[in-house]
Amino acid sequence: MRVEFDRDTCIGMFQCVAEWDAFEKDENAGKANLAGSEPSEDDPDVFVREVPEDAELDAKFAARSCPVDAIVVYDEDGEQIVP
Ligand code: SF4
Repeated sequence: MRVEFDRDTCIGMFQCVAEWDAFEKDENAGKANLAGSEPSEDDPDVFVREVPEDAELDAKFAARSCPVDAIVVYDEDGEQIVP
């Protein structure tokens, strides 16, 4: 499972932080940070990382909690599963 976080779209509501501890508050920027992620080659504002098996539920909840759909979760086949 893979997660993509569009930091440009993020409006810093921080619901995701409560759902998955990989999301951290950046109060100064008014954005979340996704720990362990790398910027996407296509868009430097989009951060990508693998989701370990024991964090899959948390990652899905984080994606569902985001009011602006800045977090997208994909399965192993690259199919978007959340939101
Ligand atoms: S819930 Fe969405 S808008 Fe809020 S901090 Fe997380 S990614 Fe950003």
